[in-house]
Amino acid sequence: MNILAYVVLSLLLFGLIVFVLLFGQNPRLRNGPIGKLHIVLTERLPRGVVAALKMGLGKTNWHRILRCWRYCFQARNPFLQIFFLVLTAGSIALFLTHAKPHIPNIYLRPMHSVIIPVQIVGLYVVYFVACMADPGIVTKENVARLLEIYPYDHIIYEPKDCSTCQLPKPARSKHCTMCNACISRLDHHCAWINRCVGANNHRYFFLFLFYLTQFCAYGAYLCFQVYRGFILDWGLDKAYVLDRTTGEKYPITFRKAMLHILQKDRMIGSICILASVASLVVGIFFLYQLYLAGRGVTTNEAFKWEMLEDSIDRGEFWMVDDDSSSDPPGCVPPTSQTSARRRQTSRDKKQQQTESPATAAAAAPRVRRRQIKSLDQVDNIYDKGFFRNLWEIVCPPR
Ligand SMILES: [Zn+2]
Ligand SMILES: [Zn+2]
Repeated sequence: MNILAYVVLSLLLFGLIVFVLLFGQNPRLRNGPIGKLHIVLTERLPRGVVAALKMGLGKTNWHRILRCWRYCFQARNPFLQIFFLVLTAGSIALFLTHAKPHIPNIYLRPMHSVIIPVQIVGLYVVYFVACMADPGIVTKENVARLLEIYPYDHIIYEPKDCSTCQLPKPARSKHCTMCNACISRLDHHCAWINRCVGANNHRYFFLFLFYLTQFCAYGAYLCFQVYRGFILDWGLDKAYVLDRTTGEKYPITFRKAMLHILQKDRMIGSICILASVASLVVGIFFLYQLYLAGRGVTTNEAFKWEMLEDSIDRGEFWMVDDDSSSDPPGCVPPTSQTSARRRQTSRDKKQQQTESPATAAAAAPRVRRRQIKSLDQVDNIYDKGFFRNLWEIVCPPR
């Protein structure tokens, strides 16, 4: 197997793993091979590794590793920020020493000598802003204002207080144990920027993802064009390949010429492959974030909606209709002006577990219940249309 086949196979395998980790718990995929692979990767494999490490290292060393793991991945720390800075600075240094001396060439104009430093400075400015911007911490001073921005939908958000912050939890907010604060419209806690992504800094996070995607793609493009330049510089465009069996000579193909250069000068090729993979992975994540944001859903809410879809599939999700205008006799009148319907309460749910729907309806004839059979029957009140949802990211309501 030649080096190109190895690279393609590695990229495909890496892409599959990323896909399984991102979408393995999706209700449509969780019962198929992707869901099973997700369980292997996230449960069985870590369990096996833990058991092997425990056995091989002994109790004391195992506890040291556990402490280190918790510090690195379960507590707020600059570990991944330092890793990001070292990785990018190292790759940029290698690019500047190995690839930059060959720019400009026949395929790259002199203006790239200006664009490259601008791109590098831009990367660190954008990263710095994403790391420093306030995600939107809920405080005593701003909680009253934040409570007015989003109403409770009584489906995935109910009015309640945060037991840690001792403050009411605005709809769409969530308490982050790593940041030890409730964050307004929380998306997720991002270890790469060492803070939460919330209402206030979501736009900077998007900007960072977009910038990093194009930065890596640009780096990969430059390396590729430097390699193309080598074909002419090394005279490979006039080279021939000798067929040992027939003794005939054939002009070298572009693919063979590139592979020959890759074998002679691995550094630029390695930077090109690393940049391509990084651009692909970050680009997929950026598009996924864009897709969620366009639907008026945060990453945290996507998980909640998935859980809800799961209960719908199991036939366990019921809603109480409060619409008096279409109520049959005996139905309760609206409980509030704004809420047209509400999710079954926990008391209702307990009742549901012990009674069949028919018995429950007979026992509480004033309440009209409706079994939800598809997620399409449930409205996401935070979805205001693709462009308005994105505008809310760019310009968060205050
Ligand atoms: Zn809290
Ligand atoms: Zn956080």
